[in-house]
Amino acid sequence: MPARVYKILLILGIAAMVVAIPLFWLTYNAPRNLEVNFLDVGQGDAVLIKTPGGQNVLIDGGPDKTVIKRLGENLPWWDKQIDLMILTHPHDDHVTGLIEVLKRYRVKRILYTGATHNAPNYLTWLKTVRDKEVPLTIVDKARTVALSQSVKLEILYPEKSLLNKTLADLNDSSIVLQLIYGQNKFLLTGDAGLAVEKALLASGADLAADVLKVGHHGSEYSTSQEFLDKVKPRLAVIMVGKDNDFGHPNLRIIKRLERAGARIFRTDGVGTVKLKSDGMKVWLD
Ligand SMILES: [Zn+2]
Repeated sequence: MPARVYKILLILGIAAMVVAIPLFWLTYNAPRNLEVNFLDVGQGDAVLIKTPGGQNVLIDGGPDKTVIKRLGENLPWWDKQIDLMILTHPHDDHVTGLIEVLKRYRVKRILYTGATHNAPNYLTWLKTVRDKEVPLTIVDKARTVALSQSVKLEILYPEKSLLNKTLADLNDSSIVLQLIYGQNKFLLTGDAGLAVEKALLASGADLAADVLKVGHHGSEYSTSQEFLDKVKPRLAVIMVGKDNDFGHPNLRIIKRLERAGARIFRTDGVGTVKLKSDGMKVWLD
């Protein structure tokens, strides 16, 4: 074989490999199941949902920049896009980490309530959202957000606009939603308290879920027996920091969950809780 032909073949071969290897790697790494990662961010909430179609949804960001480290651990290095960011309510342990996320990730859109809160971290978050020109949508009624053909978010609460409203208890402004994939349901309640649970029960919404992100870090002001009777979770995730100042989670709530037959996972015990679903069953990864 003449040397020139050999050279051309060699170059073509290398070029084919350069294209094929990343393609194979990308396809191989694309999530085929729904992934719900309850990120260990200490005393706070941050939940990363990865859909089978490759979308990333981040609900809350925890109390500091730890969320950046956790996103890095749970997303491939080249994936810097958050398709949907949801802020359940503007307390520091939910909003603070989202500021840094806005700076480092391409955030496509945001859902929040717009309830009034004048703490510095929330105001900085709002300013960063404006600077980055991320479209904001107010949750003002129960609605469905389709993430893909097979994955959707059912927003259950709030049922009315809280924009510029001052609430006696901001926890009760929390966005409550159900993530649905096939037959599997995840109920995420932010820090919603007993009043919100009552409203949800009265709304007649189907609250049954395989997985419950336990409200308000497992405090005694959330997860009433009546609510639990309707949700009937098989798995319960409590997002708390080790030795936190609030005494979360409350022992009575843990007992209540156990009596309801839920298997409990705590971020202060096992770190990030990674659950997967194929639409038929949910399992711990
Ligand atoms: Zn909280």
